[in-house]
Amino acid sequence: MVDVIELDKIFIQTIEAKWLKDQDVCLDILRTDVLHPVISGNKWFKLRYYLEEALSAGSKHITTFGGAYSNHIIATACACKQLGLACTGIIRGERPAVLSSTLVYAQSFGMQLQFVSREDYKNKAIVKQLSDTYIIHEGGYGKQGARGAATILDYCPNLNQYSHIICAVGTGTMLAGIIKSATATQLVLGISVMKANRALENELDQLLEKEDQQKQYSILHDYHFGGYAKHPPALIAYMNTIWQAHQLPTDIVYTSKTFFAAETLIRNNTITPGSRVLMIHSGGLQGNLSLPPGVLLF
Ligand SMILES: *Cc1c(COP(=O)(O)O)cnc(C)c1O
Repeated sequence: MVDVIELDKIFIQTIEAKWLKDQDVCLDILRTDVLHPVISGNKWFKLRYYLEEALSAGSKHITTFGGAYSNHIIATACACKQLGLACTGIIRGERPAVLSSTLVYAQSFGMQLQFVSREDYKNKAIVKQLSDTYIIHEGGYGKQGARGAATILDYCPNLNQYSHIICAVGTGTMLAGIIKSATATQLVLGISVMKANRALENELDQLLEKEDQQKQYSILHDYHFGGYAKHPPALIAYMNTIWQAHQLPTDIVYTSKTFFAAETLIRNNTITPGSRVLMIHSGGLQGNLSLPPGVLLF
């Protein structure tokens, strides 16, 4: 069993706010961001079965893919170091003059970085040149990733009390896992952080079994704030407001946009009075290091 982090740190934070009282809605946050300073949130859950499979197959080396600020890259680097596995990160784009903080960290955990042009990254030609390595898709996308993400809700006490579960969507792997472990009466809402990523529904489908497809879920595409990793001043201000009101730290790519979606859907009655909502805080706080210091209050 791969167990490198402190899962018992995960807890539920209940949000207290007038807009929740007024709407008679309860909003709880499952704080998976606290389980490890680097391998935070959903990334460990998505990686667990891949790494287990690699170890049991006797692999000594992992290869995976990502961008310069990828939570998945840094989580893989850190997990591999803890497990004594060598690893390579194939990074999208030419090597920059100054490496991002994410890549500096990943390298410090022993990850070899290999930069490829955006074009080569896209056509994945490089995969054919790899041998003697266990390959994990970008973002941990895949069935093993979804199976791992399905165990996130094991850490939520009284799961059945919730009418809605809401989480961020990048590749859709976490959402697939949440759908797998949701009950038939719960509505699972995935907040896409990309602009008009219409491939998503199909990619999600590939990860779901027939019985999962009978569940209630949908992906919402209106909460991307301009696109992937876009963080206009309004989003930064919102993150600071959430922090001041609830001492809840969020990240610029995923969880701030998800919290915004939850608040909007509750305020506009899409999530109806009497609902009990669980939001997954999927981590990713290291990505905020891409901001200039002092912009965020946390
Ligand atoms: C990667 C990531 C996601 C997206 O997960 P997918 O399984 O790719 O949809 C959501 N939140 C955070 C914090 C992440 O780092």
